[in-house]
Amino acid sequence: MSLVKDPWELGLMRQSGRRLAEVCAEVRSLVRPGVTTAELDEVAERAIRRLGGVPSFKGYQVGRVVFPATICASPNASVVHGIPNDVPLVDGDIVSLDLGLIYMGYHSDSAFTVAVGSVGADVRRLLDETERSLYEGVAQAMPGNRTGDVGHRIQAVLEAAGYGVVRDYVGHGIGRQLHEKPSVPNYGVSGSGQLIKEGMCLAIEPMSTMGDFRTKVLRDGWTVVTADGSLSAHFEHTVAITSRGAEVLTAIDSLGTV
Ligand code: MG
Ligand code: MG
Repeated sequence: MSLVKDPWELGLMRQSGRRLAEVCAEVRSLVRPGVTTAELDEVAERAIRRLGGVPSFKGYQVGRVVFPATICASPNASVVHGIPNDVPLVDGDIVSLDLGLIYMGYHSDSAFTVAVGSVGADVRRLLDETERSLYEGVAQAMPGNRTGDVGHRIQAVLEAAGYGVVRDYVGHGIGRQLHEKPSVPNYGVSGSGQLIKEGMCLAIEPMSTMGDFRTKVLRDGWTVVTADGSLSAHFEHTVAITSRGAEVLTAIDSLGTV
C-alpha cells in the first residue's frame, strides 16, 4: 500500500482527526481529583460513537494480549498503554491519555498529558517542554525532510531541557491502519530515515521522562513504565504532510463543525 494518501483519503483523515480532537477536548475537561480513568474511558467511548466513529484501541491485539479499553490512561511513572481502572486520580498526579478512533475507515491518534489539580513547577515544565517538542517535531515534518529530522529536533528539545527521550516506542504512519510505515522515532540523526512526502499522514508522539529513558512493561502485558520510576509525559498529534508542511489534524484549534 502506498504511504501517500490521495485527496479523497486526506479529506477523510481530516474528518477523522477533527472528531478525535473533539473527543480529546471533552475527556480532558473532565480530568480532576477524584475522577477515575475508567470513567474517562466511558466518556471517550460514548463521544467517539456519538460522532460516528469506532474506538481503535479497544480489541487491538499484539501477540496474544488484547487491549481492553477505548483509551490508554498512563498516570505518573507510566509512559504509555496503561489500562483504565477504578483508582481515583489524586491532586498532584499527572496522567497521559492516548485516544484513537476510526472514522469511515481512517484512523486518527492523539495523546496529551495533563496535571490533576495542582502540580509543582518542575512537573509543569515537563509537560510544557514535552508538548513543545511535539510541535517542534511537527514543524520538521515537511516534504523533502526525513523522519530523522523530526526525531532529531524532538530529541534536541527534550535533552536540552534535561529529560530522557523514550526509545522503545515511536511515532508512525497512520491511515487505514493505526500503525503504518514509516516509523517516526523521537530521536535520531538529521538527514537519516525515511523521506517524508506530500500526502503522507504521520502520528508524531514524543515520550519524555524526568530520569532515565529506559522502560519496562508491567505484568498486565500492556502498561509501560519508566524503569527508574521517574515521571513521564506523552503528547501526540496525527498530521498530514502538505506542500506547505505538516497540517495538524487532531489539534483543538483545527476544530470545525463536526
Ligand atoms: Mg496514540
Ligand atoms: Mg500513536
